[in-house]
Amino acid sequence: MPEIKLPTIPHPDEGTRAVLQSNKVPMIRGAGEYNYLCGNCGALLVEGIEQGQIQNIVIICPRCGRYNDLA
Ligand SMILES: [Zn+2]
Repeated sequence: MPEIKLPTIPHPDEGTRAVLQSNKVPMIRGAGEYNYLCGNCGALLVEGIEQGQIQNIVIICPRCGRYNDLA
């Protein structure tokens, strides 16, 4: 499976982005081809989606706490 490291971003302004936070990884699991990793620590955040399937959310990495931009 191709793996894509997500860009990490600063804390988004309140109410400007949909933010996903969970303690379990991967947070999202599907039947697609791409895995998305935390851009800071490499934790597997999203497993098996198609590129562009999920857009415009920010995922908080449960391992390192950084904000990952899934644009
Ligand atoms: Zn991380």
